[in-house]
Amino acid sequence: MKRVFEQPDEELSLKYLDDKLKEYELEGGEFSDPELVRDYLHVLFHYLLKLRPGMEHNTDSMLKLMGASFKQKGYRTAFWAIIKEAGSNYPEDPVFYMGKTLEGRIGNEDIEEVFRFMEYELMKEEDESERNRDLGLLAICRIRFRKNRIGNIRMKRRAAKAEKDENGGFLAQCRQFVKEYTPVKIKEYLDRYVIGQDEAKEMLSLAVYNHYLRILHPEDKLIKQNMLMIGPTGCGKTELIRRLSELINLPVVITDFSGVVATPWKGRNKEEALYNLYVKAGRDPLLTECGIVFCDEFDKVIPKRSYSLGSDINDELQGQLLGMFEGTELEVPLQDGGQSQEILMLDTSNILFICAGAFEGLDKIVKKDISGSGMGFGTEVSSAKNFELEGKMLKTEHLITYGMKPELAGRLSRVSVLKKLDRQMLKRVLIEPEDSILERYRTEFMIDDEVKLIFTDEALDEIIDKVDGMKIGARGINSVIHDILAEALFEVPSLKVSEVIVTKAAARKESKPEYREEAAG
Ligand code: ADP
Repeated sequence: MKRVFEQPDEELSLKYLDDKLKEYELEGGEFSDPELVRDYLHVLFHYLLKLRPGMEHNTDSMLKLMGASFKQKGYRTAFWAIIKEAGSNYPEDPVFYMGKTLEGRIGNEDIEEVFRFMEYELMKEEDESERNRDLGLLAICRIRFRKNRIGNIRMKRRAAKAEKDENGGFLAQCRQFVKEYTPVKIKEYLDRYVIGQDEAKEMLSLAVYNHYLRILHPEDKLIKQNMLMIGPTGCGKTELIRRLSELINLPVVITDFSGVVATPWKGRNKEEALYNLYVKAGRDPLLTECGIVFCDEFDKVIPKRSYSLGSDINDELQGQLLGMFEGTELEVPLQDGGQSQEILMLDTSNILFICAGAFEGLDKIVKKDISGSGMGFGTEVSSAKNFELEGKMLKTEHLITYGMKPELAGRLSRVSVLKKLDRQMLKRVLIEPEDSILERYRTEFMIDDEVKLIFTDEALDEIIDKVDGMKIGARGINSVIHDILAEALFEVPSLKVSEVIVTKAAARKESKPEYREEAAG
């Protein structure tokens, strides 16, 4: 197993792993679903190689990952926590997608089979003390995993009980949700994780609440509240949806709309988002039709010039998107790997679409309009050096001038403008949210080696300066902190250290973080 990690790149490692799996099967080892196990191991590898790059990984890292217990609530298994981690750091990463498919399929028995495979590999170690050490670690990780698994089984039982309730359980769950979560409560939940952006939170909470009501009371024909979020990179648009998806019992997908072309032109089509939703819904078409699609980078489907009828190659795409948002029957090709192309008919009338994008240049359009009009905000605007777009200034015409098809602009009536995060907000993002990035790094040190991670106030300020300078909002936080901690993450597990202290100098990368040694005894 060790050699796997000595391969410098992912491709070679994966090939090596495949060979190992084949060998194991030839030797009589069995997997009830070999493909699944292979995917699972690939995701683990990918996690180690990509999310902890440049570090030496060995059997220990792999085993620890399998047995890791994650304290954050909402994680079903260590595996799922890993996928969440990969997903939140690399939303565009294929592993995120592959992981999501895996999540519904992989069972505890499969993971037990992986442990058996690891054991088989470890038994080949010739050095006896090395072998015993590895097998000991394997035993610990297995126990840890089983402990998590008991919690998991309880959760499944609870779900099964709910299933027996009226109407197949799903509607009962929705009813329960609405009883428990008013729009105010949904917002309060989002407040725990996302800093600021109150207007967007309120609008989103209301849209989701309304979405539930529509599912529960189809006869009332409530109007669907598709929504548009406008805000610079890294201000929390996707984070809002990500957090929301952890709260609700509906399938949610985040799909990148940059590069989407009108159907049936060759390339990525809008149907891809629906296919992803279908997979997320456990391939249940009815559940899919109650889901939520987050259309990220939505501004990229709009060419940046004032919309004029028919002259635009994107006219077709925008028209198709409008149809999908409003509600239509769409043929979704099922990309199940095989040669035959099956088609699923989906009705999008009840799917909630939330579009988001930076819409660069839109602020200039608005500024020009209102400073020229001499009305309302005019005087303040023309004198303001740092004009910042606000929701109340925005009109449908501005979106049309930006290049949006009028019908589409008219239909996305719920528009929310999110603010760029200033230094103060960035600092709050760093430390305040539950499960903040800082907290996740703390957990990472804790999981492996019970090491406490401490940041001095000056170090935090330094980090904020750096992030602010990157001009990608809070998106920069992770890479800045990773950069500071990379070496410590690598070497601390092999040192006797009880505290890692990030000082100002360490934050500036002028020195290493300080290590405090474990007290003797
Ligand atoms: P975008 O607005 O471009 O969709 P994201 O929501 O993906 O940006 O933000 C990137 C990362 O930055 C998130 O994973 C989250 O950790 C953090 N982040 C951004 N904005 C906020 C915020 N307002 N509150 C808390 N975390 C945030």
